[in-house]
Amino acid sequence: MSKNYFKKYPNKEGFFNEYGGAFIPPHLEVEMKKINDAYYSISKSHKFISELRNIRKHYQGRPTPVYHCNRLSNKYGGQIYLKREDLNHTGAHKLNHCMGEALLAKHMGKKKLIAETGAGQHGVALATAAAYFGLECEIHMGEVDMAKEHPNVQRMKILGATVVPVTHGLKTLKEAVDSAFEEYLKDPINTIYCIGSVVGPHPFPMMVRDFQRVVGIEAKEQFFDMTGELPDSVVACVGGGSNAMGIFSAFLENEECTLYGIEPAGKSFETGEHAATMTLGTPGVIHGFKCYTLQDEDGNPAPVHSIASGLDYPGVGPEHCMLKDLKKVTYDSINDKECIDAFFELSRLEGIIPALESAHAVAYALKLAKKHPQQSILVNLSGRGDKDLDYVIDTFGLPK
Ligand SMILES: *Cc1c(COP(=O)(O)O)cnc(C)c1O
Repeated sequence: MSKNYFKKYPNKEGFFNEYGGAFIPPHLEVEMKKINDAYYSISKSHKFISELRNIRKHYQGRPTPVYHCNRLSNKYGGQIYLKREDLNHTGAHKLNHCMGEALLAKHMGKKKLIAETGAGQHGVALATAAAYFGLECEIHMGEVDMAKEHPNVQRMKILGATVVPVTHGLKTLKEAVDSAFEEYLKDPINTIYCIGSVVGPHPFPMMVRDFQRVVGIEAKEQFFDMTGELPDSVVACVGGGSNAMGIFSAFLENEECTLYGIEPAGKSFETGEHAATMTLGTPGVIHGFKCYTLQDEDGNPAPVHSIASGLDYPGVGPEHCMLKDLKKVTYDSINDKECIDAFFELSRLEGIIPALESAHAVAYALKLAKKHPQQSILVNLSGRGDKDLDYVIDTFGLPK
């Protein structure tokens, strides 16, 4: 892949080949252009870069380590390594882009950050960033999700955010998106809508990727320091695709590294209860951008399922769609059962409880390791599993 990859993609209109762009009303186009222009000038500014660097080091606790899994490798074969984003402040990779978005908002003179949240992970990360910068924060969340994810609602409130319950429709993520968007449109001058992954209209897929690149840059150097080589395989889970783009971005030009993006196969493909957008989706427009989507017969986003609520999105980042078509990344899937098994394996063999999202990537790495015992495999462990304990124990009980 050419050295000019990051100059070439996305193009000026925000396209990664045919995917991405900004399919939005004209008045929003104006706001997105302002955000884009601010990002371009600020991302080249020495002050912005050094402020972000300072935050990453002293506030987030970066660089996060790369860890070699001794017991897991002995049992499954291969040499399995984890990039420990579970040790990033707040326990997942999401803070990497939320701090970047909030810093941009501050530089643009915005007063308030607005977002939706499904399971509450994006809401908590954004509320953290808002507290750090002294900005207001308003998180829209479906009432059903609020009941399900009560601890995250409490976290957001403790951090000083306002949580707006969304009470119409199915009262989950889709309605929360609409509600947050409506609020943003009331005052786009003083507020900014902070998107939680490499999705949405341009420039968000590009900005969020750029803010997540730190994961790949660190991991590549750390892995090389430990082994004197690059990994044979790099594995990450894909919901919207931000943690995966973060780690993949450093290895795109290394043809010798095989990159794997892992989607949720949910209960199974046959039941229709999955969120395997790349494997089974078709190109379409969703939430203001073009990507592979899972749609119902009327062309609306289909209901999707994953045991990991951070992965159940009926679209996917446009850059992933391009990388799939270019065959630069292999997309495959892991089902709920395989995910739970990997969740317990990593906990018991290494003393690391992974997020259910991340456990999809771990599960795939275990399969790869069995198949290719000579390989080194680097997994992006996108987050820790504390948030999932109640759900796992209620649903599966404790293993004997
Ligand atoms: C939200 C989340 C994800 C999924 O988001 P991506 O944008 O696909 O990375 C993965 N892992 C964890 C721990 C999350 O919280």
